[in-house]
Amino acid sequence: MAKYVYDFTEGNRNLKDLLGGKGANLAEMTNLGLPVPPGFTITSEACRHYLAEGSTPGGLEQEVAEHLDALEGRMGRKLGQAGDPLLVSVRSGAKFSMPGMMETVLNIGLNDESVHGLAKQAGGNERFAWDSYRRLIQMFGKTVLGIDGDLFERALDAVKGRRNDTDLDAGELQRLVETYKGIVREQTGDDFPADPREQMRLAVRAVFDSWNAPRAILYRRQERIPADLGTAVNIMAMVFGNYGDDSGTGVAFTRDPGSGRQGVYGDYLQNAQGEDVVAGIRNTIPLQELERIDKHSYDELLAIMETLENHYRDLCDIEFTIERGKLWMLQTRVGKRTAAAAFCIATQLVDQGLITLDEAVTRVTGDQLAQLMFPRFDADADRKKIGKGMNASPGAAVGRAVFCSERAVELSEQGEDAILVRRETNPDDLAGMIAARGILTSRGGKTSHAAVVARGMGKTCVCGAEELEVSTEERRFTAPGGVVVSEGDLISIDGTTGEVFLGEVPVVDSAVVDYFEGAEPDDELVRAVDRIMRHADAARRLGVRANADTPDDAARARRFGAQGIGLCRTEHMFLGERRRLVEDLVLATADDERQAALNALEPLQKADFVAIFQAIDGDPVTIRLIDPPLHEFLPDIVDLSVEVATSSDVTDKDRRLLAAVKRLHEQNPMLGLRGVRLGLVIPGLFAMQVRAIAQAAKEVPGARPEIMIPLVAAVQELESVREEAVRILAEAGVEALVGTMIEVPRAALTAARIAEAAEFFSFGTNDLTQMSWGFSRDDVEASFFSRYLDLGIFGVSPFETLDREGVGRLIEIAVEEGRATRPGLHLGICGEHGGDPDSVHFCHEVGLDYVSCSPFRIPVARLEAGRAALKDTDSDTR
Ligand code: PEP
Ligand code: MG
Repeated sequence: MAKYVYDFTEGNRNLKDLLGGKGANLAEMTNLGLPVPPGFTITSEACRHYLAEGSTPGGLEQEVAEHLDALEGRMGRKLGQAGDPLLVSVRSGAKFSMPGMMETVLNIGLNDESVHGLAKQAGGNERFAWDSYRRLIQMFGKTVLGIDGDLFERALDAVKGRRNDTDLDAGELQRLVETYKGIVREQTGDDFPADPREQMRLAVRAVFDSWNAPRAILYRRQERIPADLGTAVNIMAMVFGNYGDDSGTGVAFTRDPGSGRQGVYGDYLQNAQGEDVVAGIRNTIPLQELERIDKHSYDELLAIMETLENHYRDLCDIEFTIERGKLWMLQTRVGKRTAAAAFCIATQLVDQGLITLDEAVTRVTGDQLAQLMFPRFDADADRKKIGKGMNASPGAAVGRAVFCSERAVELSEQGEDAILVRRETNPDDLAGMIAARGILTSRGGKTSHAAVVARGMGKTCVCGAEELEVSTEERRFTAPGGVVVSEGDLISIDGTTGEVFLGEVPVVDSAVVDYFEGAEPDDELVRAVDRIMRHADAARRLGVRANADTPDDAARARRFGAQGIGLCRTEHMFLGERRRLVEDLVLATADDERQAALNALEPLQKADFVAIFQAIDGDPVTIRLIDPPLHEFLPDIVDLSVEVATSSDVTDKDRRLLAAVKRLHEQNPMLGLRGVRLGLVIPGLFAMQVRAIAQAAKEVPGARPEIMIPLVAAVQELESVREEAVRILAEAGVEALVGTMIEVPRAALTAARIAEAAEFFSFGTNDLTQMSWGFSRDDVEASFFSRYLDLGIFGVSPFETLDREGVGRLIEIAVEEGRATRPGLHLGICGEHGGDPDSVHFCHEVGLDYVSCSPFRIPVARLEAGRAALKDTDSDTR
């Protein structure tokens, strides 16, 4: 029979799929002998069953009851027992951490009787007992019963006035409990459930349900977390940070998640329960100050942090509670970090002998590298600093100040950049955080919601800029010196330094880009990047080439580490001044007229190729013969029709051009006269390009051209074009491979035949995706992909990340059958997917020889190709 419940003593860190990250790591800490309150985990498999069937799996209730009995036995107390109650927390915990996105309920087991028992346990501390009880009703009411949390907050504020919540006495809290119970009755028509086991049962269901809460769905989409994993639920004996000043709760990192530096980083809140820290209801104190308050616990905590770092061999973040001088560990995990910290930590751990360089490469991602290549603010520019907060998530963001999530979304839909300014954020702000360029808060530390979520998304964030007085109601903030920033005003925030500037500050390239451009590594981050890139390069099997069609792009690609050009498109070479020649070509009615136009184009083309061969300096250049329909080079049909109809000085050429434009007009140009079809229909066009390539190659010593035919669907199309190309090359005495793109599904399916006439394949996955799905690549992303993403038809656009199941299948067929015909057939990819991390891994797995991508993605592709090759030694990279 399936096992749905695991005691903390039964699990371990490798069971994340089943127990979620939190449950697996609680078990791991339990096994390490660290002070973890006893408890058990309900598996994510039970959650998946519940979400699919609408009911919990048979046997689950029984299993939970047995584990609860055992827990009660161990604790010597029964859940919610009147005289001496056991209380538990019920907390979510999915495989991948989703900070604050799902539900937690603390203090389960309290009711009108057991609250007195709790006070007795606490040595007569009535205040503590009533505070715990009101917290239960508040949390339970909001998360389990779905009551608007503001109703409770307002009731609390009404009692509190200007005092802190810790200033309320037992009598006030007891009356607050009555008020809260009234709210529950009024909002749900029922009494707050007094039965402790019923409280627990309902809380478990609420955690399951929270997997599909809108904010959780949004977060998963943003972080590309699969929608069908479900969450585990952790039930743990409560320990209390709200006993009094000898108690408290905190969060900490084993090193700085912003820079990677070792030290003590964290926040502590005296006399509080866990949710207070994240919610930012009172200002936390730096963890270092715990040494003064409770040296014994502080020393123990530091020792545990060291144990955890050595055990996990990585930065860990932790949650802990001190109950009357006794330290308890409530959570740990391999912590999120900024991109810069990820590179620094990986190499620091190598130097400490904790991990190998192989592992260091797997500990960083292409997305993190891409973030480091973002520009930063120009330190020499004139700038007016108006505040400083914590450098919560790096980057340089400029945008209009907005004070609510909705406005951030509106601005971004209008194509404007917004900076979301809040006192603090909460999970309901998620849509605005995604839409904004950056996030600025006036309260909360590096572990606040804003900071954690922003870092996870790689979004610039400054938090806890306390001198700024933010009024979300008046939609403005005031900075020292009376500077007022109202909604819509431009501000700039620097997530690397924590500074806030008025107006727009100019940005400059990143030091990492300078390094790729050839500058010597001169700081810790760039040295870390250099070390990891060298190792990734040594490890990777995939070659990395560039999509480049100008000498500048080619030169940059080379500096960034490209090993040649995998796609040199030739269409831009027919624009500008040269459009006139294309018009002549289209209008030609006789062979000699057409040839004259081609003859005029040939030297221009040759010069284009000479410049590129020179820039790439001896590496291969795959030149794709012209692909788009010719009418793209002609005037717009509507404009030209209007001109011919209304202008007084219409020429004969205009009239002939209009007739040609009409003749060439297509309903579905993407499926029309383009690619190899052009070469077959317009005599001499491809021959002119091949001649230009051959002549250019002769002129540049060491040039290595490869000629690529686009949009081939049948070997017969390729054969005649290839024959002509081979003849021209032979006549010129130039050697070049002649191959084809595989971008039409039929080409993939008949790859065995096509390989007879092709010396290489390059997968054009833009068109291959378009034609496999039947999705117009120019339209669908804007028109209906958001609906498809909502419906979970795919988790990410197939134009962004290669669809392994469909398009990937076609590639696999073509690889296998192509190589069966021609062993050693050279294989690459040149669609946009060539620079996408997940797609690079796919290319490695199916055995391509290289990926080709835009110059700025080359470092990302190099790193990911290295990671793909080293994947087997990967331990824990997410
Ligand atoms: C492709 O289709 O993937 C490709 C590289 O060609 P283009 O984007 O120019 O159509
Ligand atoms: Mg294409």
